[in-house]
Amino acid sequence: MIEVIFLGVGEAFDEQFPNTSILIRHKTGTSPVTLLLDCGFTAPPQFWKEVPEADRLDGIWISHFHGDHYFGLPALLVRFWEEGRTKILTLLGHKGIETFVRQALDLAYPGFYERLAFPIRFVEVEPGQEVQVFGITFQAAENSHPQRDLALRIDVRQTAIYYSGDGRPTPEGMALAQGSQLVIHEAFLTEGDVPGHGTVTGAIDMARKCGASRLALVHIQRKVRRQVMERIQEFEEMARSLSLIVPEPGDKITLYPNVA
Ligand SMILES: [Zn+2]
Ligand SMILES: [Zn+2]
Repeated sequence: MIEVIFLGVGEAFDEQFPNTSILIRHKTGTSPVTLLLDCGFTAPPQFWKEVPEADRLDGIWISHFHGDHYFGLPALLVRFWEEGRTKILTLLGHKGIETFVRQALDLAYPGFYERLAFPIRFVEVEPGQEVQVFGITFQAAENSHPQRDLALRIDVRQTAIYYSGDGRPTPEGMALAQGSQLVIHEAFLTEGDVPGHGTVTGAIDMARKCGASRLALVHIQRKVRRQVMERIQEFEEMARSLSLIVPEPGDKITLYPNVA
């Protein structure tokens, strides 16, 4: 059983919804694993409400290095330090993740990286690789976004989740998403040819072609979200057997393994 909690569902500069950030929980044997997908500048308070314990989080996936996806890290790391964390923290992302994270922390809290009392392990995940960390298989594919973004597929015991990060679907991303139960996709606008971003109709088309059973739309442009909600029935009809979700912060989904 995997639990997916939408901590934030907003785009970068939304006044109402925190940045898109998703918490994944699963149990391997007796020890629970907690993974965070993206941590933008407005995500940490949502995380702390859901996970107040400093030692609980195991890893963080960063899809790309735009502030609304990783500028929450300094706050998260320094609060862990304040609260006496000792457990190792794994940060996963594409090539260069260590440099990006250390630069962000250095700008926010100069000299703090060296003071953190818990080890940080950086794991690079590049397209074409299969990386195993805490019982989860990580695979990534390039999306189409102005800043290099990797879409992520995680497989945990016959359950697969695909998360786009930011960007328009690519053939590589589509191939990676094949057979995933849940697709979490950014849908900045409703439809049309949007360079560098996903759309509602594009994500529905993509998730249907990949055989997903659920699609969660996140990162909807702040002025577009109302239109999406007003047209939700039309989009649901378009999605047919695919179950369409437009989550709000705090919404949870429970996934069970695909038993063939
Ligand atoms: Zn971005
Ligand atoms: Zn973004």
